[in-house]
Amino acid sequence: MICRPRRHLPGSLLVAAVCGAATPLALAEPAAAPAAGSPAYLHAWDGGDDPAALERWVRMHMDRADGDIARLTAVKGAHTTANTLRPYDDAFNELTFATSQASVLYGVGATKELRDKAQALTQTANAALTALSLNPDVYHALAAVPAPADAATRHYLEHTLLEYRLAGVDKDDATRAKIKVLQDKITELGLAFERTVHDDVRTVLVDKGQLGGLPPDYLAAHLPDAKGQVKITTDPPDAWPAEKFADNAELRHKVFLAGESVGYPANEKTLRALLEARAELAHLLGYATWADLAMADQMMGTPARLRDYLKQIDATSRESGAREDAALLAFARERDPSLKQISAADARYWQEQYRRAKFNFDSQSVRPYFPYAAAERGVIATASQLFHVDIRPVSGVRTWHPSVTTYDVYDGKVRLGRIYLDMHPREGKDKWFSTQLLTAGVLHRQLPEGALVCNFPGGKTGDPGLMQYSDVVIFLHEFGHLMHHVIGGQNSYAGEGGFNVEGDFIEAPSQMLEEFFHDYGVLSSFARHYQSGAVLPQELYARMNRADTYGRASGQQRQLMYTAVSLDFHTLPPATLDFDAVYRQDFERFSSFAFVAGDHLWASFTHLNGYSSNYYTYVLDKVIALDFFAQFDPRDLLGGPAGMRYRRAVLAPGATRPAAQLARDFLGREPNLEAYRRWMLAEFDRGAARASSAAR
Ligand SMILES: [Zn+2]
Repeated sequence: MICRPRRHLPGSLLVAAVCGAATPLALAEPAAAPAAGSPAYLHAWDGGDDPAALERWVRMHMDRADGDIARLTAVKGAHTTANTLRPYDDAFNELTFATSQASVLYGVGATKELRDKAQALTQTANAALTALSLNPDVYHALAAVPAPADAATRHYLEHTLLEYRLAGVDKDDATRAKIKVLQDKITELGLAFERTVHDDVRTVLVDKGQLGGLPPDYLAAHLPDAKGQVKITTDPPDAWPAEKFADNAELRHKVFLAGESVGYPANEKTLRALLEARAELAHLLGYATWADLAMADQMMGTPARLRDYLKQIDATSRESGAREDAALLAFARERDPSLKQISAADARYWQEQYRRAKFNFDSQSVRPYFPYAAAERGVIATASQLFHVDIRPVSGVRTWHPSVTTYDVYDGKVRLGRIYLDMHPREGKDKWFSTQLLTAGVLHRQLPEGALVCNFPGGKTGDPGLMQYSDVVIFLHEFGHLMHHVIGGQNSYAGEGGFNVEGDFIEAPSQMLEEFFHDYGVLSSFARHYQSGAVLPQELYARMNRADTYGRASGQQRQLMYTAVSLDFHTLPPATLDFDAVYRQDFERFSSFAFVAGDHLWASFTHLNGYSSNYYTYVLDKVIALDFFAQFDPRDLLGGPAGMRYRRAVLAPGATRPAAQLARDFLGREPNLEAYRRWMLAEFDRGAARASSAAR
């Protein structure tokens, strides 16, 4: 479960993140709207933290969208791409501004008042987008445009018409009105679900004597109070090291349970209402379940095809996963003979201990080589070299928070777009790791902009922000999304951007970039000890890489568990769905760890909003990503020709071609499981095979 990208309302348009009691603009407001391209036009945060300024900004973009729609429906005579598709895309672009930036500020806004307003406006703007997706006049106008000569525009037009039909545009007025009510409700409930998670930071109090095993910089940042107690929150930089490194089982159990209780019980009602609204909408549109609807415009197509595909993935990973888990249990029993089963709360701890013992790799030993600032420079340098772009810091840019850093992305002298990094936790900020679209790209008119919203260590004075190596992998993952958006945002229409490609392709470019972490040439360019400046020793790197191969199959089984939860919650009848029971059943199908009573992971599983039934995206795209990565020359990953070829075949086309074609264009064939199998069975199994033949 890594990043959570855009929300996608199937049968609708690609939706940023999400009504609010609109206060009419004061009459004193100047009538002139900011010019397109001016900062005031581009950025919602230009009005500072004033909720009223945000509202004016969102309304301005919605009004402009109304103008564009009026233009295309007023056409008398022949409809053309110029007089119909272009104004449609202009309206889509304006609503993308409104939905995406309101949604970003909902997650990162500096004050509660601003986040509240942003939430309400995300709802309002998404309601406008839904209204556009159900507007029969727009649909008929688009349908009257003759097939464009160029393939990209033709694909965009055909795909847009398909999305209109899936949205229910050809239903009667009463049905469309019902659809609209349900879509708006879905948006509202989804936002409420996530907001509960953002605001629900739990704190565990532990005795200072229980902190054994945690690294010194962690201890320095967690000093005991007068009673000798230490606070650990559920924010990732706090909770993750505690679960992985703390020797004290009670501490691990407390921190685990706190994390798996986030959103519970508040989100139970919200989630049920959300699933009910989705099921009702699917039925209204003629689909048996929400999952059928949500997959209709995806590469996967149907839940039946998905189930077949998942069987293959299960067959590929189950046995190896069981072997990994059995080895782990045997190891833990050497330390604690009374142990019958490893608790889910202890899994990360035992995996760390196992890697230390069997691979001579202590993951704390590499943290000093990954202080946040160096990792940021390293990830940027890696992406620059790989994709042949320059990413340069820009100063003096106004953003939504002083901690945000800004960069421009260049191709030679040509500026391709702008990116913003908001990388450390704050109160009330989104608690996960995601890439967010801010502006869509329109060739020669508007540059794409995007942001990373993350919760990495650091960002506080005196804290070097030592990252776990898995944090650096997440950073690369998110950067893969960002590059997809920027490089794929150089097409003729806003709706042709990288994030508008089929949703179940979105996690391929991100997971592809993760793989670059495992190259010494890449790592040694930035991994330097935060105190001594020494480069990450090659020998330590080699042990880390070998140790990392352990747990891949069981990790894929875990992805299948999330996939099953996401699918089951969207195919079983929601009124009677027992969230805890179904979650536990899926957990036990794919994990050998003991389920921990009180684990309500589903209550903070925000992918249930963003990806709904389609969490499988990560699994499908892992296969594609590894196939892509296998096309690079391992001896010269960054310098070889594959990077540019990948940029041109996969990233740059954005949504101008079907995703399956992007994959074929780069691979020269259909994607297959070979690279995935090799990756999964890498060192660990080869090591296990050696050990067992030696034993014989
Ligand atoms: Zn992702």
